[in-house]
Amino acid sequence: MGIKMRMLTVEVDPQVCNGCGLCETMCPEVFALVGDQAQVRVNRVPEEVENACLEAAELCPVSAIAVRRHVEPVR
Ligand code: SF4
Repeated sequence: MGIKMRMLTVEVDPQVCNGCGLCETMCPEVFALVGDQAQVRVNRVPEEVENACLEAAELCPVSAIAVRRHVEPVR
């Protein structure tokens, strides 16, 4: 058993996002509004903003943000 690394990734469903901008306001390190669509700016969510990002996903009024947790072995 090696050491495992946790990581969080997020995706915004462009069909669902209504461009309200809440996620960008709550976690600008991860989300950016481009036109009337939120986009994810990072491949993985930096640890220091994980909570803000999870909160944004929870509070998104149309549940357009999917959160995935990954556990990867570190070699
Ligand atoms: S909070 Fe949800 S609906 Fe609003 S911009 Fe972000 S992803 Fe889109």
